[in-house]
Amino acid sequence: MTDHPTPSATTSAAATTDVVQLTAAATAAAIAAGELSAVEATQAALDRIAKVDHTIHAFLHVDAEGALAAARSVDERRAAGERLGPLAGVPLALKDVLTARGMPTTCGSRILEGWHAPYDATVVSRLRAADVVLLGKVNMDEFAMGSSTENSAYGPTRNPWDTTRIPGGSSGGSAAAVAAFEAPLAIGTDTGGSIRQPAAVCGLVGVKPTYGGVSRYGLVAFSSSLDQAGPLARTVADAALLHAAIAGHDPLDSTSVDVPVPAVVEAAGRRDIRGLRVGVVRELAGDGYDPGVQAAFTAAVETLTALGAEVVEVSCPHFTYALPAYYLIAPSECSSNLARFDAMRFGLRIGDDGQAGAEEVMSRTREAGFGPEVKRRIILGTYALSSGYYDAYYGQAQKVRTLISRDFAAAFERVDVLVSPTTPTPAFPLGAKVDDPVAMYLSDLCTIPSNLAGGPAMSLPAGLVDGLPVGIQIMAPPFADDRLYLVGGALEEALDAQRGHALLDEAPAL
Ligand code: GLN
Repeated sequence: MTDHPTPSATTSAAATTDVVQLTAAATAAAIAAGELSAVEATQAALDRIAKVDHTIHAFLHVDAEGALAAARSVDERRAAGERLGPLAGVPLALKDVLTARGMPTTCGSRILEGWHAPYDATVVSRLRAADVVLLGKVNMDEFAMGSSTENSAYGPTRNPWDTTRIPGGSSGGSAAAVAAFEAPLAIGTDTGGSIRQPAAVCGLVGVKPTYGGVSRYGLVAFSSSLDQAGPLARTVADAALLHAAIAGHDPLDSTSVDVPVPAVVEAAGRRDIRGLRVGVVRELAGDGYDPGVQAAFTAAVETLTALGAEVVEVSCPHFTYALPAYYLIAPSECSSNLARFDAMRFGLRIGDDGQAGAEEVMSRTREAGFGPEVKRRIILGTYALSSGYYDAYYGQAQKVRTLISRDFAAAFERVDVLVSPTTPTPAFPLGAKVDDPVAMYLSDLCTIPSNLAGGPAMSLPAGLVDGLPVGIQIMAPPFADDRLYLVGGALEEALDAQRGHALLDEAPAL
């Protein structure tokens, strides 16, 4: 762990700079101790956004007024002696795919420009109940389809480590906001890797919880059987606090599972993995993996061994088919989910001149409102679901999905967690893969299996390759999310001790 600067009670310029570098846990502790007010913490984040976001472009909407009002309420209630939760007064960046009253929800798409949701997503109402301060909405690939945030209709976000490079995607705005010290916490969503891949390339901790562990109510659907919201943070402990705040059964989501939330906060602090069995997935290595990524991964695995874990190699033969199966299942579900954007109910409407029929208006609106990647997926999915092809494509992909789940089940009979690199490469330059969708799709080679099988997975900073962060992925069985935090907490502590500081301390100043 790094020594975090002690926040001063005053709001001198220097103190403001320090405040944004505090972890969420340290921010909350300073607020609880009366050393820092929630308004000061929020103002520091807003000042930081004003200073760096014209370069980073993480935010699509900043709700300064709403954030300061929420912060004032925390300060007032704390002053009145009310006991508040462990994240009270901590600022957060919200991916623009979750609805929040009083803010626009665009999903990074023109088709929803100007749409204000009339209700809060369950994740959002839980954050509000936990007195987390919502700073605003952050950028993303349109409808969460992409790995670079370049598919946003509102322009790309930049990686704070190197602003000529991508911050990952689709939750690129969430990751960039946290890595650029605009917010200590962010919510992302992960359908095939969209929390873990941005976390990896921005040097953060990112977790996709077990499917059904976090409510999808108010999460605009891309691929309903895969989508899951989760935390992005600078430390494992912060991610655990956020995970605990948003998780748990929700009757408003029929796929939400009524089981107790795993004890993630406790697990993050345990830091003892002696005797834990760790499986290195043989199939998630080799050709196509950057040698630097492999080296950082191998070094992290050696650290796990040094911490007393028993490391073995494990084969998951069907993981090789995860990517093609995903690119049938996700587009199929998206072609059904995105049918609701019909120019009648939400956002944009083009060509409604009193003459044109509903179908004509729908068609013109979709032509103008959806970007090329979204159109590509809708067409792919419509084809895969069409009669005559359904069994050959969609049905086949679902069978592969079952085989991948069985690979996981077999592996988890031998080991407690599985590990792999999070991504095959560090952040690539903006523009490098925009014209090659398949190259872009390969970014999620390692992350997709957990989405298909439903289990939880974390990306944790493993080190730097040519000055760019890379991640190690930890995967656990469904509803054993606490194991990610157990392993993550221990490994983070050891890696920070090896280098003498947290990885993010090496990020260039903005
Ligand atoms: N990059 C993958 C895709 O484009 C995953 C996206 C996600 O997890 N939302 O579909």
